[in-house]
Amino acid sequence: MSADTDLIPARLDKVRRRADAAAERSGRSGSDVRVMLATKTQPAELILTALKHGFTLIGENRVQEVVAKADELSAVPHETHLIGPLQSNKINHALRHVSCIQSIDRLDIAEKIQRRLEAQDAVVDVYVQVNTSREDSKSGIEPAGAVHFVRSLAQFDRLKLKGLMTIGLPSEDHEEIRPSYRNLIAVQESLRGAGFEGVDELSMGMSHDFELAIEEGATMVRVGSSIFGERPKPR
Ligand SMILES: *Cc1c(COP(=O)(O)O)cnc(C)c1O
Repeated sequence: MSADTDLIPARLDKVRRRADAAAERSGRSGSDVRVMLATKTQPAELILTALKHGFTLIGENRVQEVVAKADELSAVPHETHLIGPLQSNKINHALRHVSCIQSIDRLDIAEKIQRRLEAQDAVVDVYVQVNTSREDSKSGIEPAGAVHFVRSLAQFDRLKLKGLMTIGLPSEDHEEIRPSYRNLIAVQESLRGAGFEGVDELSMGMSHDFELAIEEGATMVRVGSSIFGERPKPR
C-alpha cells in the first residue's frame, strides 16, 4: 500500500466528523449532507480504498477518467456523478457510467442528452450549474437567468432536475466565499417561487470550505484533496 492509501481511512473519518458537526451547527443532522469523493486525477486504487471505507459517491470532472477507472471501480458498489463540463461527443460514454450530471448549463447539450435518452428509453438525474461568483466565468448559468433556463430545460423530460451545483469563489477568505453560497440558495428560492419542485439538492463546498458550505445549506459537498492529498499541479 502507498502512504496515501494508509492515510485515507483516517482522513475520511475526519471529513465526515467535520461535516456532521457543521450540519448540526446549521440545525440539521449529518445524514442530511452527503460527502462526495472528488476523484479527478486519483488512481482507482486510492478510490477503492475510500469506497471500501463506506463512502459510495464519486464525482469526476472528465468523462475519459470515468471510463478509464470504471472496470477497476466496479469491484465495489458506488454511484458516479459528472461534476465537470460535458462535450457532446462524450454523452454516450457519460450516460453509460454516471447517474447524475451536475454540470448542466447549456440547452444545446441538454437537448442532445435528451435525444440519446429517448433512443435508450432511459432517464438521468441532473443539477444545473450556476455561476455564483462571476470570477470563474467559465461554467454555469447566470443566477438572474435561472428561472428562464429551468423553464426551458423542463421541455427535456428525460433529464430529471434534482438540484443546483456551484463552484464558490476561489478564495481562502470565508467572508469572500459566503456570498457565492448565499447566491445559490437565492437561486433555489427563486425556482421554488416560480413553482419548480424537487430542486432540493445543493452541491457546494470543497476541501477548503466545505464546513462553510454546509453551514450555509449544502446538501452535498465535493471533497478531494482533504481525502486523497494534494493533486499534482498541472505544468
Ligand atoms: C476538484 C474539484 C472539487 C474538489 O476540490 P478539492 O479542493 O480537492 O476538495 C470539487 N468540485 C469540483 C467541481 C472540482 O473540480
